Amino acid sequence: MTDTYRHKGLRKRLIDGIRQKGIRDEAVLKAMEKVPRHLFMDSSFLEFAYEDKPFPIGSGQTISQPFTVAFQTELLEIREGHKVLEVGTGSGYQACILYELGARVFTVERQKSLFLKTKHLLANMNFAIRTFYGDGYKGLQAFAPFDRILVTAAAPYIPDALREQLARGGIMVIPVGADDVQVMKRIIKAEDGIYHEEDHGLFRFVPLLSDRETA
Ligand code: SAH
Repeated sequence: MTDTYRHKGLRKRLIDGIRQKGIRDEAVLKAMEKVPRHLFMDSSFLEFAYEDKPFPIGSGQTISQPFTVAFQTELLEIREGHKVLEVGTGSGYQACILYELGARVFTVERQKSLFLKTKHLLANMNFAIRTFYGDGYKGLQAFAPFDRILVTAAAPYIPDALREQLARGGIMVIPVGADDVQVMKRIIKAEDGIYHEEDHGLFRFVPLLSDRETA
């Protein structure tokens, strides 16, 4: 599949809409204007790729709504060279936005089929993103600490491992809530190791599943 002028036009309109909905960080909007979202969805869904909606990507999962991707990414304040952990690789779209912003991206997915599909997709698209098959509740101890941590599924609580794997001066963005709606939390780990917590509104995510639950 290719990225045509028509796709670029649709993408520009989508990004203009997201800007109007309140996203201010132009670097985030620029990265989203660059990454062809339709390449992360099945070809038959082409016409839906540039609507501001989440969409099924198989295995009962979804690619996040573009506004949500923009919102979470803006909260993260990504800078060139940041080491970033994403929990919930899914389609790989969000990981690519982080990569476009200059981050060194590590992303973990617990569903084997999705992990394999996305790993190959990202490699074919020449995105140098490190993909891992594993349980995001545990983070990625071998590569910690991370300057930024992004969770893209609904967490019933903030996993201790993720708190611990956050670098001092780091930021974690995580939707927290066990019901069908979650509070977008931003956790800032100060240089003295103290955590500060902020709330940034309500969102809906698919659940972060634990080891005991079936995928
Ligand atoms: N960031 C994705 C959207 C992810 S949807 C994108 O840009 O497309 C949430 C993803 O989290 C799903 O793919 C789901 O399988 C995954 N997930 C659920 N529980 C998980 C866990 N414990 N560890 C890692 N990934 C998990």
